[in-house]
Order: sequence, then structure tokens, then C-alpha cells
Amino acid sequence: MAKKELNLNRVPMPKQEPLVRARNFGEVSLGYTPAQAVAEADRCLQCAKPTCKDGCPVNVNIPEFIKALREDDMPEAVRALKAKNSLPAVCGRVCPQEQQCEKFCVLARKGAPVAIGRLERYVADWDLAHKGAVEADKMDASTGRKRVAVVGAGPAGLTCAADLAKMGHSVTMFEALHTAGGVLKYGIPEFRLPKDIVQSEVDYVKSLGVELVLDNVVGRTELVDELFEEGFNAVFLSPGAGAPMFLGIPGENLNNVYSANEFLTRVNLMKAYRFPEYDTPVKVGRRVAVFGGGNVAMDSSRCALRLGAEEVYIVYRRSEAELPAREEERENAKEEGVIFKLLTNPKQFLDDGHGNVRAVECFEMELGEPDEGGRRRPMVKPGTEFEIEIDTAIIALGTQPNPVIPSTTPGLKMTRHGTVETDVETGRTSREGIWCGGDMATGAATVISAMGAGKRAAADMDRYLRGI
Ligand SMILES: Cc1cc2nc3c(=O)[nH]c(=O)nc-3n(C[C@H](O)[C@H](O)[C@H](O)COP(=O)(O)OP(=O)(O)OC[C@H]3O[C@@H](n4cnc5c(N)ncnc54)[C@H](O)[C@@H]3O)c2cc1C
Repeated sequence: MAKKELNLNRVPMPKQEPLVRARNFGEVSLGYTPAQAVAEADRCLQCAKPTCKDGCPVNVNIPEFIKALREDDMPEAVRALKAKNSLPAVCGRVCPQEQQCEKFCVLARKGAPVAIGRLERYVADWDLAHKGAVEADKMDASTGRKRVAVVGAGPAGLTCAADLAKMGHSVTMFEALHTAGGVLKYGIPEFRLPKDIVQSEVDYVKSLGVELVLDNVVGRTELVDELFEEGFNAVFLSPGAGAPMFLGIPGENLNNVYSANEFLTRVNLMKAYRFPEYDTPVKVGRRVAVFGGGNVAMDSSRCALRLGAEEVYIVYRRSEAELPAREEERENAKEEGVIFKLLTNPKQFLDDGHGNVRAVECFEMELGEPDEGGRRRPMVKPGTEFEIEIDTAIIALGTQPNPVIPSTTPGLKMTRHGTVETDVETGRTSREGIWCGGDMATGAATVISAMGAGKRAAADMDRYLRGI
């Protein structure tokens, strides 16, 4: 048989034009057309020993779903994808594939890897647009239907709940907010991940028989131990890491200095961008500075632009090479006009005399020797203070777990970082019958790592519940 010729260039993803999209909340990436998807799928070499699968934390059979797509057997492509991934339309949009499956694609050694994430999105969107075309998942009735409580309806909780429901258990998911989805709903903006897509995937999990109890803060509304008293046989903790970290500098309490959490929650979850239809105030003014260099900082800066700000700065204390945000999101932000002030660190926020932020005073920085994490340590250049005039500041330095559950659950061992101590392979905690996964166990990480933890825990909980 003739050897397949390598095609080293991927089919580009259609996107909204930068200066147009910077002023609307519609999705930036528009998705492949059927012809584009087949052309991209055709680049896959269908390796006998596919390495891409090893890079996927939930072990999706990537060559199988791509093969079905290529052969225009879309129901089969959906089945292959959803056998391992209950949230594929989410993952196809926000997973850092360049660090995972695509990094391991053999084509990456010579050119561009197969655009696995874009193909995943295409298949998942086809599924959402053709409801009922794919036969529903069969439940395993042999497990004896034990009762499981899942605390927190983000990606870790949704995945764990879906897998346990497919195994035949009776699952109730408790969510603190008025809607399920976690960061997918309250953090990641509409223009990267439309909320109706997230809701469709939440609805899929519910269609598996998972009961969802909203507005229920476990640790306050009821304690973890009370869940056992109510008859639950096991508990999976997945409340994420939603408590923001601050700079700890003078002026941080001035008006119009937000944590990224508060800012993004107002914009996304409470739909401030649709004011006055939704009555949630959020003021950005003309000039906005966002402090931090991760995905959260990129999302905040791009939301500020869309809310009408004219000058939006990313203030980051290291250099471009250390920016932790995904390259794609960084490039999108630059194209849209976000200005990067690198090697810059804030010293204090300055008052306008009425309690509002007027400016931020910053230092220039330089990089020294690598720290424990291997990244070069940022150091202040003395005497380099300068001011940036701003109307709004958004602090996007990262988040940590909320202590409400640990402080009300005796015997739950914690790490010194405030995360729950778990066995990485199974998610077991120091308390029998309690598992934990996602950001609560790892600290702020990624959607797919949270989903992987949910999957591993579900498998172990099933073994425990069946007494094997
Ligand atoms: C702005 C932003 C952008 C991001 N972008 C990306 C990206 O592009 N790609 C990527 O892979 N990752 C991204 N991440 C990270 C990713 O979203 C998280 O790692 C992931 O959502 C963690 O999943 P989780 O299920 O552990 O927690 P969460 O998504 O935080 O979900 C936890 C849920 O538990 C609920 N909860 C909390 N406490 C309680 C309680 N006591 N009782 C009941 N319910 C409770 C919360 O309300 C929430 O719904 C981003 C994060 C943010 C903030």
C-alpha cells in the first residue's frame, strides 16, 4: 500500500476579525465547516500505536473518533468521544491541547500536529445540534445502586457524577451557586465558551439520572457528615479553588479595584455585559490594568475591552517567555489590542481623593537566577517607579481553595497549601468514604485535569461501593 503523504499544515480555524470581536461577546473561534473538519481529520495518520491518547488525561480514543469523522459516521464519532469524555464541547474549546494530546501527535515532530481539539469541538457540536441521533448511554444495573453525593458541579464533579451514574449508582450533586458548571459558567467568558454549550453538557449529565441540588453550600447548608447521616454511602468533594489571592499592597481596598473572580463573575454569571437587561453593575472606565499573566488575566483584559475600555494593560512581573497563559489566548489578546507591560510590578494603588483608584505606581523588574520552580526570579530595579493612570484594576494572581468544607469536616487532612491531601491515583482522602478531586486537591489547574481526577475517583468509588 502506498505510504500516506504527510500534510504538515493544519486547516486554519475561522475566527471573528480582531477589531470586530474586541467589541462583542460572541464566540471568537467560529468552528470548522464539515469540509474543513474532514480535511483536517484526513491529516491523521491513524498510527498503529497512537501516542496522542497518552497525552489525554481522560484517555479519549482520539484516532477512533477522528476515523469515524473522516468516514462521515458522525454518530460513531460521538460515541467514541463520549465514551471517555462527558464534556467534549467544553474540552474542544478550552483544553490546553498543545500541552496534552496534540503535543504527543507524531506530526508535531515535523510540523503542525493534528488539530485534535478543533475536531473534538466539531464532533461535540454536531452532537448538540443533532439531539437524539446518538443512542443514549446504557446504565450498568449490576452495581447495586449505592447513593453518592458529589459536592460542587464544576468539571471534576460533573465528570465523577456522570461516570458513577453510568455505572448504575444514584448520584446527587450539590452546588453552592444557582447554576451548575463551576468556572465554566462563572469564570471563562462567553466569547471563549458560550454558556448554552456548558448548559447543554450539564443537561447531558442530568439526562444520565444525576440529581442536581442548587443553592446548597455544603459545609454551611449541611455538613459533609450530615450527608452520611442522610444515607449517602460515599462523598466526592469537588468545590474547586475559588478564593482569590491579592497583591497585599497599599491602595488595594480603593473603589474599582476588583479581584478577577468578582469581575468575571459579575460579567459572566451575572451578565453585566447585558446591562440594563441584566441589572448587574460593573464599571471599567477608559483605562484598565490587569495584574497577572495567566488565562484568568487574559480573560479579564479581553472582557474589559468588550465592556468599552479603550486602553487595557496586562501588568506582569516576568517576561513574555514566562507568561503562563495559553499561547492562543495571549495572541488573541494582543490582536484585540491588549497592551502587555512585561517585567513590571505594582508598588501601590493611588487615590483620586474620593476613594477611587486613579493610578498604579509600578516598578520595573529584571530576572535573576531560577527559583525552586525553575523559573527565573523577578527582582525589583530600585529607583524605577513610574505611574500608569487607570480607572479600574483587576487582580488575577490566582486562587486557593475555600476553607468552608475543611473547617467543618473533622479528620480531613490538608496540605500546607490549603488543598485536600489525596491519593493521586484514586482521589481517596484521609477520611473513609470521602474522595476529593479537581482544583480543591491540586490548587488551580485545568478543566481536563479536574475531569481526569473525577474519572479516577469514580472508578475507585465504584470499587469501594461494590466491596471489591
Ligand atoms: C477565568 C478562568 C479561565 C480559565 N481558563 C481555562 C482554560 O482555558 N482551560 C483550562 O483547562 N482551564 C482553565 N481554567 C481553570 C479551570 O476552569 C479549573 O481548573 C477547573 O474549572 C476546575 O474544576 P473543578 O471542578 O475542580 O472546580 P470549579 O470549576 O471551580 O467548580 C467547583 C464548583 O463547586 C461549587 N462549590 C464550591 N464550594 C461549594 C460548597 N461548599 N458546596 C457546594 N458547591 C460548592 C462552585 O460553586 C463550583 O460550581 C480557568 C479558570 C478561570 C478562573
